[in-house]
Amino acid sequence: MICANCKRPIKQIAAQVGRMRFGRICAQRRGLVPSPEPRGLFAGMNPPAKRDPFTQDLFAEEVAA
Ligand SMILES: [Zn+2]
Repeated sequence: MICANCKRPIKQIAAQVGRMRFGRICAQRRGLVPSPEPRGLFAGMNPPAKRDPFTQDLFAEEVAA
């Protein structure tokens, strides 16, 4: 089967409206299915990496050369 939105083959139907079947991505973009991973969930789990001034850069020499 193919997605009614992007015409790409889909393995699993995420949403169906009438005779139109949508893949997961297109269904999410169209708001047919809730996104399984709310952006707020990972916002606090992955803080931006802080540069440690006491740790030498492993690739400093390669970059310089
Ligand atoms: Zn699609």
